[in-house]
Amino acid sequence: MELIDGKKTSEILQDEIAQEVLTLKDAGGKIPHLAAILVGHDGGSETYVAAKVKACERVGFKSTLIRFEDDITEEKLLQSISELNNNADLDGFIVQLPLPKHISEDKIIEAIDPRKDVDGFHAVNVGRMVAGMPAFISATPFGILELIRRYKIETAGKNCVVIGRSNIVGRPMSILLSQKGFDCTVTLCHSRTKDLKGICQKADIIVAALGIAEFLTADMVKEGAVVIDVGITRVKSETTKSGWKLLGDVKFDEVAPKCSFITPVPGGVGPMTIASLLYNTLLSSKKEIYK
Ligand code: NAD
Repeated sequence: MELIDGKKTSEILQDEIAQEVLTLKDAGGKIPHLAAILVGHDGGSETYVAAKVKACERVGFKSTLIRFEDDITEEKLLQSISELNNNADLDGFIVQLPLPKHISEDKIIEAIDPRKDVDGFHAVNVGRMVAGMPAFISATPFGILELIRRYKIETAGKNCVVIGRSNIVGRPMSILLSQKGFDCTVTLCHSRTKDLKGICQKADIIVAALGIAEFLTADMVKEGAVVIDVGITRVKSETTKSGWKLLGDVKFDEVAPKCSFITPVPGGVGPMTIASLLYNTLLSSKKEIYK
């Protein structure tokens, strides 16, 4: 069994990005600039956005954080997005989700200029990704592909099961793994899937992205399978200082011994997500997606 070290891989990717920034600087080019809009004071969102800003500093990007109270109107938020769309210095921006209930997330995402949508959530980027055209690919699927590439995991002709069909993880993951270059035979499973256990038992690669702690157990996994655990569930713990710990969607201790490769939680897919966002911003600043 080989552990896929997402923390280390993320650091390597961030170092590569930092190196590119230095090269751009030396050539008198523009420093990549990422902005984030944060609405309200949700604990999780605060943590994620702070980590994104810190990561920008680490690689030498310029970053801007725009904060609004959670009673901001949809109209005001749309106005701010329009300003960011027209800000020539900005290579990309994200709107941290979730948003307060009175704001339509779909409307907000669709208002972002696809050329600056480094989260890859806009329908234009999703459509381009599905068509195999250059596109901003959302950060979590991109990070998983990067782990698969860098660990040289064989994918061609493999049976891959993706559990979960969300727009940000499961569905894009299933499409990307089926495309040329990865060439998996993909089964996309969800809450209405029948005989999930039987389907998983035939899988060479399992991507678990359903958000149920320790859902995937050893009896669902065949010997030698590759298991990618996307899930993050915070549970109470008496053994940690904080009183909390993170669990993945995989019952790690019993599944890991059966695997050829497995990602841990924490330290697997999670750290790759931010590095992928930075990478998309770099691509945007170099005009590599939209020429
Ligand atoms: P979601 O809630 O939007 O989607 C969950 C999906 O799982 C749904 O499509 C649903 O049909 C499916 N599902 C639910 N119960 C199921 C069951 N019993 N059997 C089969 N399928 C079932 O979740 P999401 O936003 O895709 O996130 C999934 C998990 O990944 C969460 O734990 C989330 O915190 C985590 N996540 C991690 C990262 C990261 O960077 N590591 C990024 C995004 C999400």
